Amino acid sequence: MSLPQVIAIDGPAAAGKSTVGAMLAERLGYVYFDTGVMYRAVTLVALRRGIPIDDEEAVTRLAERLQIEVTRPTVRDGRQYTVYADGKDVTWDLRLPEVDKNVSPVSAYPGVRQALLEQQRRIGRRGRVVMVGRDIGTVVLPNADLKIYLDAQVDERARRRYIEVVRRRGDDPPKAVEQEAEYKAIREAMVRRDRIDSGRVVAPLRPAEDAVIVDTTDLSIEEVVAQVLKYVQNGSERG
Ligand code: C5P
Repeated sequence: MSLPQVIAIDGPAAAGKSTVGAMLAERLGYVYFDTGVMYRAVTLVALRRGIPIDDEEAVTRLAERLQIEVTRPTVRDGRQYTVYADGKDVTWDLRLPEVDKNVSPVSAYPGVRQALLEQQRRIGRRGRVVMVGRDIGTVVLPNADLKIYLDAQVDERARRRYIEVVRRRGDDPPKAVEQEAEYKAIREAMVRRDRIDSGRVVAPLRPAEDAVIVDTTDLSIEEVVAQVLKYVQNGSERG
């Protein structure tokens, strides 16, 4: 009897994947790896270098060459990890709105996915890992010992992302009308991103056939973690 060595967590934006994944990894003493940062790093560097996002060939070439490194947090500023792109700390820049806006088209390019896949699999092969993304259970690690698909209603996911953005900005609370407008913009961008992620030809967002689906709409983070830990335990009983 042993605990699942490789745990895949997939799902749409703001379903709780990163928070739950990181907490789970910490409780189990596993490595936490958020594959979204790799697609974000390629997108950020493409934007910075003036590579047009719709130039599939140029973006793919960039993904093949860019050195992306993810390490333990190097600064205590609330980050879960530090991400370097060609040696530069880009951790927070990965969350910029223009990255949010352009990351889905970038990650729909088959060549970009291919370039990042082997690196993700290598991390998976080491075991004792919680890997988070969109296609971990279906494509990256189809033999994962436990697959979780986190989902939540879109209004709730947009609300969570909105709160996160406001908190990170840390300024005075905006007026009600501004709040409403910002929430709406976040919701729209999220719906668009999920539509591209689910509709793409290569590795679309969908639950693996053998994934456990958890609807987090009405659950707290602690409740989700407790539920997932139960699946971790049940898996060990089955084994
Ligand atoms: O999880 P996060 O929101 O950081 O992911 C950013 C984007 O990266 C997703 O919207 C998706 O387009 C892409 N992605 C992906 N496959 C993954 C992880 C992320 O296509 N495994």
